[in-house]
Amino acid sequence: MVDDEVIYCSFHPNVETRLRCNRCGAPICAKCAVQTPVGFRCPQCVRSQQAVFYTATPVDYAIAAVVGLVASVVAAFIMGRVGIFLALFLGPLAGGAIAEAARWATGRRRGRWMWLVVSGCIVVGALVAAFYPVLFLLFTPRPLISLPLSMLFRLDLIIYVVLAVGTAYARLR
Ligand SMILES: [Zn+2]
Ligand SMILES: [Zn+2]
Repeated sequence: MVDDEVIYCSFHPNVETRLRCNRCGAPICAKCAVQTPVGFRCPQCVRSQQAVFYTATPVDYAIAAVVGLVASVVAAFIMGRVGIFLALFLGPLAGGAIAEAARWATGRRRGRWMWLVVSGCIVVGALVAAFYPVLFLLFTPRPLISLPLSMLFRLDLIIYVVLAVGTAYARLR
């Protein structure tokens, strides 16, 4: 069948095209056609398809944040004691475990920003592990300045955060 009829893109009314979305049939131009494994689709169909793919609710995000935070604080305190060398090996494992805990707690529903929530938890957990000595100083008569700065610069925790966030991103993306 030869389709010589001139049609115009439904998103760009001035652009002539011969392409149609293979789901809803809307005319689309080369600029807005999205190539999917099943053919060219219009941006609207792609978006509604993704909405089905991402099923996490706001409650899921809240649960992921709580579970992720608890797991991240525990992991960061452990990582803060094992040394830089072990942090290199255990960092990805810890990140994977935190991601799995959040996934399990949310019934394995996917969320577009789930990786961001869990990564945020990992960062906050490491900050708690790094800065909790400051809390003790607040309740002592010593001036804050007496805290050695080296206590706050934690290369082991930085390494752990980078590796753990990388793993969590790969798992939850
Ligand atoms: Zn469509
Ligand atoms: Zn277009």
